[in-house]
Amino acid sequence: MRRQDLVGYIGVDIGGQSTRVGTFDERGKLKVISFATEPDFKTECEKIAGAARQLLPKGIKKLAVGSPGPLDWRKRYLYDTPNLPWQNVSFAPLEKLVGCEVLLDNDANVAGLGEATLGAGKGKKFITGFTLGTGIGHFQVKDGRIYHGGLDVEAGHQILDPNGPECGCGQKGCLEAFVSATAIQKRYGVPPHQLNDPKAWEEIAYRLAQGLVNAAVFVCPDAIILTGGMLFRGEMLFAPLRKFYSEMLKIYPERLRPPVLPAKLGDKAGVVGAIVLAKVGHSE
Ligand SMILES: [Zn+2]
Repeated sequence: MRRQDLVGYIGVDIGGQSTRVGTFDERGKLKVISFATEPDFKTECEKIAGAARQLLPKGIKKLAVGSPGPLDWRKRYLYDTPNLPWQNVSFAPLEKLVGCEVLLDNDANVAGLGEATLGAGKGKKFITGFTLGTGIGHFQVKDGRIYHGGLDVEAGHQILDPNGPECGCGQKGCLEAFVSATAIQKRYGVPPHQLNDPKAWEEIAYRLAQGLVNAAVFVCPDAIILTGGMLFRGEMLFAPLRKFYSEMLKIYPERLRPPVLPAKLGDKAGVVGAIVLAKVGHSE
């Protein structure tokens, strides 16, 4: 898919701090309007609609929203999300404000769709990956579309050690309970961007490698993409991660192993993925 194929579609990336509304122009340039996420949901929807109309005054083909979950993408309904000011709200009424169909999906899936289509996974058929942030999101993109399974695939909550640290989800020893920014803060007393002890990063990389190897053997994707704030630590994380991943994963010949790739779109993955979602829609 080329960026020019996405003209006329709007993507919205909602975060706890800010909301980005974006589209691609005729030359394939990404145009984004950002504003602080509104504490009132109705005002938030009005601001999204205003930004969308400003970007595409002649009309919007479709609009898609990526938001922190839990949510029901089929009903476009957001449950009680800890990272957002509103709870139990529906995005369906946004359709009246923007005059087109509105789609919803969770932020990890949407960022993954962006990376799979126009970022690190471009040209590959089957991508899986993890978003490394406050929590550990997971995504799978097959043939250019988000794969959900029944409810949603939650490989950030695969259990690496049933006697491990408690996870926010209620389980023990989840991947998220070892490698999320929250887990790192809890265990090492500093957030990931202040953690400079290579031994600590080896421990984190070891657990993350376990998670990636499990993902590789369960679904054997064409690539595993890592995205999210922790990527800024670069080789501090990636050097031990590559080593452990390669040491642990033996079932495939080395040259046929799913490669582990850093994301390419940075913090634009969410808004780009939402534009792509508006164009391709859901497969189920
Ligand atoms: Zn968990």
